Amino acid sequence: MTLEPLQLPAPQEGRPVVIAGPCSAESEEQMMFVAYALRDAGVGVLRAGAWKPRTKPGGFEGRGEEALPWIVRAARSCGMLSATEVATAAHVHAALEAGIDMLWIGARTTANPFAVQEIADTLRALGSRVPVLVKNPVSPDTELWTGALERLNAAGITRLAAVHRGFSSYGESYYRNAPIWRVPIELHRRLPGLPLLCDPSHIAGRREIVGEVSQQAMDLCFDGLMVEVHCCPDSALSDARQQLTPQAFADMLAALKLRHNPQAPCASLDALREEIDRIDDLLLATLARRMAVSDEIGRHKQREGIPVVQPDRYKALIDRRSAQAADAGLSPDFVRAVLAAIHEESVRRQLSIVR
Ligand code: PEP
Ligand code: MN
Repeated sequence: MTLEPLQLPAPQEGRPVVIAGPCSAESEEQMMFVAYALRDAGVGVLRAGAWKPRTKPGGFEGRGEEALPWIVRAARSCGMLSATEVATAAHVHAALEAGIDMLWIGARTTANPFAVQEIADTLRALGSRVPVLVKNPVSPDTELWTGALERLNAAGITRLAAVHRGFSSYGESYYRNAPIWRVPIELHRRLPGLPLLCDPSHIAGRREIVGEVSQQAMDLCFDGLMVEVHCCPDSALSDARQQLTPQAFADMLAALKLRHNPQAPCASLDALREEIDRIDDLLLATLARRMAVSDEIGRHKQREGIPVVQPDRYKALIDRRSAQAADAGLSPDFVRAVLAAIHEESVRRQLSIVR
């Protein structure tokens, strides 16, 4: 992949690149107000959605094309660049014609190769070199995310960045879209020149934890943030819960602790630790399942009058697994010790069932 630097307005030395603005452009006054406040907070790129992909019909779907000149005028009057989301060929034509400086592709669109290809084909046909930020797809699929970046790159777009905005999951969770940091970090390993941004607003889903998510992104050496900021978040027409006031946003930025040595391999180390934590979660869940099955066997033994310990079965199990250990790159002694501990616990539980 041929990548070039994004060339975003330079933040202060050592500070993250910041893109900020409301979820949706609601009116020209709203855009102007927030743009001036963001300029004062040192923001270089003003974001706002003109077309909002809504889960259900009937919600606020954005002001559409009419909003584009508001975004462009507000950004220009503050010396900022403008950015908006595109999902179709018509959006791309309208946004570029209005003078939008930077496009982003939303999570639902990244998940749809037809839509991404349509956007890429349109940019190629227009001979555009506009920078494009690609949000992760809604599910943690590194291939799909990479594929979207490749489609755009093949169409001649070399100024690209990836935006981690979290992944949707079933049921209630702490986050609106839980981050899985190792996915963007793996993307960055595959495409080393690709800047990584974090959208803490769509990860958090509520303003109270936007700062905490932003700090995590900084700890993982992300290059920058895309944050939703609204002059009156509570009356925002979309994503009201997660938008910050300009003041809260400026305070959040000022409170971020940045690494003194951004070159230190913190991202890979933290990602590996996160991986270990996930594996330990799996190990615990697997042990719990194993014990549940063993309890069931205990009940069966009790019904049928079978003794709890059958030495032949235990010996066969240990022999088979310690032979397997070497193939898996594990020491047989270690595997024997782990299995002995598990077996001991199984026997203890079965004895208490039989008794
Ligand atoms: C947005 O940035 O307002 C947006 C809709 O984002 P996402 O595609 O991440 O949901
Ligand atoms: Mn939003």
